[in-house]
Amino acid sequence: MEVFGNQKNCGGSTPPQLGSWLEGDWSRPVLLVTKVFSNNQTEVKLMPILGKRSLEVLATCHPSLQMIIQEAIRVFDFTVVCGRRGEKEQEKAFREGKSKLHYPESKHNAETPTLSKAVDLAPYRDGKIQWDDREAFVFLAGVMKAIAMTKGVPLRWGGDFNRNDNLHDDKFVDYPHFELES
Ligand SMILES: [Zn+2]
Repeated sequence: MEVFGNQKNCGGSTPPQLGSWLEGDWSRPVLLVTKVFSNNQTEVKLMPILGKRSLEVLATCHPSLQMIIQEAIRVFDFTVVCGRRGEKEQEKAFREGKSKLHYPESKHNAETPTLSKAVDLAPYRDGKIQWDDREAFVFLAGVMKAIAMTKGVPLRWGGDFNRNDNLHDDKFVDYPHFELES
C-alpha cells in the first residue's frame, strides 16, 4: 500500500498540492441539536453541516451522492473537496498526478454540470481538513458505505477499489474518492 501522506491522486495529499481546489470559503457552520435519551436526560451537541464551499461542490454531483453525503455529514464532519471536473480541470488533475485518467474517462467527468458520479471527501476537525488522519478517512468511508447500503446505492470507495472489503491489498488507493458503481 502506498504511504498515505505521499499520495498525489484526487486530493489525497497535503493542502498545498490541492491548489485551486481549496480556494474559497471552507468555514464550517454547526447546528446545535438537543439529544433526548430514554431516561429523559438531554444533551446538547454540535452537529456538523456542510459549509458553503462544500455545498457548491456537492451541487455538481449526482443526486444519489448528494443524498448520501447529506446524511453522512450528520454523523461525521468532512469537507466536499471535489465533484465534477470538466475537461480543463481533469487534464490539470492528470498533469498534477491527482488522477490517472484523461477526460472524459474519470467518473468525476460528467456531460452535464450536475451529475458527477464521483466525489472526493476529506475529514474536517479542529478548524481544518485532516489530510494525514488515515483513521478519519477510513471512518468516513465506513459511514458513507453504510448509508449508501441503506439507500440501495452501490458505492465504491477509493480505499478499496477492488471491492473485496480487504483494505490492505489494493495497489492504488485514493482515500478521499467515492464513486457510484453504475
Ligand atoms: Zn476522486
